Amino acid sequence: MTKKTVGYVHLEWTCPSCGTRNKGTDKICVNCGAPQPDDVRFEQAAQEELITDEAVIEQAKKGADIHCPYCGTRNPADAKICSQCGGDLSEDAIKRESGRVLGAYKDKPAPDVKCPSCGAMNPATARQCAQCGAPLRQSESKPAPPPAKPAAKSGLPGWVMAGGAIVLLFLCGGLLLLLLRTDDVKGTVADVEWQYTVAIEALAPAEYKDWQDQIPADAEILSCSDEVRRVQDSPAPNAEEVCGTPYTVDTGSGVGEVVQDCEYRVYDAMCRYTVMEWQMVDEAAASGNDFQPDWPALSLAVDEREGARDASFSVIFRADGRDYTYHPATLEEYRQFQPGSTWTLKINKLGTIVGVEP
Ligand SMILES: [Zn+2]
Ligand SMILES: [Zn+2]
Ligand SMILES: [Zn+2]
Repeated sequence: MTKKTVGYVHLEWTCPSCGTRNKGTDKICVNCGAPQPDDVRFEQAAQEELITDEAVIEQAKKGADIHCPYCGTRNPADAKICSQCGGDLSEDAIKRESGRVLGAYKDKPAPDVKCPSCGAMNPATARQCAQCGAPLRQSESKPAPPPAKPAAKSGLPGWVMAGGAIVLLFLCGGLLLLLLRTDDVKGTVADVEWQYTVAIEALAPAEYKDWQDQIPADAEILSCSDEVRRVQDSPAPNAEEVCGTPYTVDTGSGVGEVVQDCEYRVYDAMCRYTVMEWQMVDEAAASGNDFQPDWPALSLAVDEREGARDASFSVIFRADGRDYTYHPATLEEYRQFQPGSTWTLKINKLGTIVGVEP
């Protein structure tokens, strides 16, 4: 995120002695003459308008105002001597706080306010009643509450979650025990089968997607479209500037800086492309119910080649009127299961053979 200055606006402060709202740059209350104490904060005006007076902006850029260590009077950041008592401000002067976020930039017209003394309506920006001169407060509309922090996503109380976790643990443990528990069953080999397959491959276009500068040289590009490749703080060619809602920050000088947090989305061409790759186009298979398996004969076309080979073996046992299928891992193991021979099958609770013993 990078901070971008939109402009500067006048802030306000309320005199603690008489309640009058003063322009931020006024260091002394326009109504009663009391100086602004250092603990009276600046606030946003009801309606903010960007300042065009370069001198005011330049002064704001110099930094927070300082309070005289002798008489407390507010002086500009670069003042050397107190305007009120002539005291030396080069040391011990108290700098006003700055950098505080005051709120969203109020560039929308605010509703008129009613004078509490005479009832006359005044524009929201007025600090004193045009009719009777009484100090006016800002309209009563409550400032928008700060965005609520996302609540912790927990619909259920902690103990319910913990209880649920324990129950789940018991269920998993129980299931594991069930799977580990086996029954010994006597089974007879009813049938055997082997199946050998060989993949047949040919060069064919395979489709992929990548940034244009990452695509292999021999690829054929189908189509491209601009997508956000990265987000960065600084501007760049082919980048889109995305900024958040402007907000006003206290500079400590009675003038607020309106800023925006911005980022730059850099676009680049994302393309769909094809490259020629060996892919499985067919499969040759051979199978039998004996113990002499053999690979299938291949008849390859000129542009084809042999791919991966796969061998699988199955033995069907019959036990207590039920059939159980077992898959030996190797040809050597498979050859042990002569039809009619009897074996001890270890069957788990799901009815799957997990082991075979003579
Ligand atoms: Zn006052
Ligand atoms: Zn002073
Ligand atoms: Zn009035």
